[in-house]
Amino acid sequence: MQQTIDILKQQFTLELDNAKTVSDLESLKVKYLGKKGPIQDLMKGLKEVSAESRPAVGKVINDLKVYTSDVLDDRLTKLMQEEESQRLMIEKIDVSLPGRRRYTGRKHIVTQALDEMIDIAISMGFSVQYGPDIDTDYYNFGALNFASDHPARDMQDTFYISPNVLLRTHTSNIQARIMESQRPPIRIAAPGRVYRNETITARSHVIFHQIEAVYIDIGVTFADLQAAMREFLTKLFHEEVETRFRPSYFPFVEPGMEVDIRCLSCRGSGCGLCKHTGWLEVGGAGMIHPEVLKNGAIDPEIYTGFAWGMGVERLILLKYGVKDIRMFTENDMRFLQQFASA
Ligand SMILES: [Zn+2]
Repeated sequence: MQQTIDILKQQFTLELDNAKTVSDLESLKVKYLGKKGPIQDLMKGLKEVSAESRPAVGKVINDLKVYTSDVLDDRLTKLMQEEESQRLMIEKIDVSLPGRRRYTGRKHIVTQALDEMIDIAISMGFSVQYGPDIDTDYYNFGALNFASDHPARDMQDTFYISPNVLLRTHTSNIQARIMESQRPPIRIAAPGRVYRNETITARSHVIFHQIEAVYIDIGVTFADLQAAMREFLTKLFHEEVETRFRPSYFPFVEPGMEVDIRCLSCRGSGCGLCKHTGWLEVGGAGMIHPEVLKNGAIDPEIYTGFAWGMGVERLILLKYGVKDIRMFTENDMRFLQQFASA
């Protein structure tokens, strides 16, 4: 009997070593401890053992049963713990990691500024008009009285797509188009993106934005131009601004002016922002050239008009003290996040 038990034990130990998974161990349990297993068979055989040796033999068989059961349960518990800890390793979460921040989207500073300028223009009675970024030489130059040899047409300044098609260099192509389709009184604000073939520096870029205002009617004078510009700038900078007009040349206006405002930082005494001149340049302006009106089939003997245009990025530079125009196109979140949209 003892020999049978020893063999059984050896066999069991061998099979136990080969059992690698929970399901291997469970089959082993059924095989040895089940109703049709060898230990149960030994139990059944007890009745053939003599009455006096039955308790001793019964104990030996029972010890084997307890041993087998304990060893199997022990291995099973260990294996399940191992599998559980492996699963936890895979699924583990580092609770000390910082959470993922969710950013609230907002309008780009240039869009915000354009929206504000459009609102101001509308409040002053201008309607907003848009035009194509890609336009013909005629609407960008010809209709606006640029002579065919004007330097602005040079390849240095203009991105040409074909000899006759270009990326507009200013938003004035909109006034050229509007004059063809509308009769005075015309009072429009024309915002948009413009393109210049220039070297990119802190002060100039190949892409920027302009907003232009045009007013054509009977009896429009230079005083109207000055008053409209001053009102627009006062609303934009939320303070009374002092303007200064210096004679300049633009082909589509006569007379043409460069427009400065009294330095917002030093109030005229001189500082770094105004390069110690006391004045900040904000744009160009003038009375619409009679030839431009004629190109739009508007009689310059009856009607007069003014036009002024300003660089949107330039106004933002002045309003917020931004020092580098390239910041507007670099998508640096640290810069953009400073301008919370309303
Ligand atoms: Zn200054």
